[in-house]
Amino acid sequence: MAGRDRGPFIAGNWKMNLTLPEARGLAQKIVEAGAELRESTIVLFPPFTALAAVGGTLAGSAIGLGAQDLFWEDQGAYTGEVSGPMLKEAGCAYVLIGHSERRQVFGETDETVNRKLGAALRSGLSPIVCVGEVLAERESGRTIERIDAQLAAGLRGFAPEDLERVVLAYEPVWAIGTGKTASPGQAEEVHAHVRRRLEERYGKDRASCAIILYGGSVKPANSYPLFKEKNIDGFLVGGASLDAGGFVGIAGEALRAYREEK
Ligand code: PEP
Repeated sequence: MAGRDRGPFIAGNWKMNLTLPEARGLAQKIVEAGAELRESTIVLFPPFTALAAVGGTLAGSAIGLGAQDLFWEDQGAYTGEVSGPMLKEAGCAYVLIGHSERRQVFGETDETVNRKLGAALRSGLSPIVCVGEVLAERESGRTIERIDAQLAAGLRGFAPEDLERVVLAYEPVWAIGTGKTASPGQAEEVHAHVRRRLEERYGKDRASCAIILYGGSVKPANSYPLFKEKNIDGFLVGGASLDAGGFVGIAGEALRAYREEK
């Protein structure tokens, strides 16, 4: 079964939230729950300003650190931007690219996603590339068309070996922060399609090992049925990742589904 030889991958996107003491406190609670979550991969994405503090709290634990964005150049006169080498130096192993909030609020395009993907790989970071349709696209039957366009342009020019470090996240925009979750069937349909596209580009073995996350109002109550779907390898969690109990609950429910299948 695709992706099921490893436990769930659970990423917490803290967005533009938390003071430094709050960020440290939340990270500490997740570290303390780490023993229960041993078979999963947990990665936290605090704001840039909290990377060092959260990295310090996570030191010595199995929980990974990631950033919410990066710039496509490595250094230079780009006021306000943060580069891949800077994130590496700050202790990050992962970086989010093309989150729908970056696309919708900050003008991120498939072209900039592609450039940022190159920068992340060059810096030795594992990118999580986000794709997803808006409500009008879903309602007019253009979901797959939109996902295909984002994948084709975002992944253009990368070699099969590059895929090994790339995580994909399907995040229907209408489900992010809205409380509306895609049903397991709706999410699985897109995940299976994404895996087929990866297979066409990079071959069966690489596609079956690729990690494809679902994101959009994930909570403990829907984590289990979503993770039961064959092509859903874990979650990118926004709002619920700000509460240790909710976040750990999501990971725990995904683990329950994983253990049943082992
Ligand atoms: C996200 O920010 O990637 C996300 C999925 O948010 P939420 O879980 O709040 O919908």
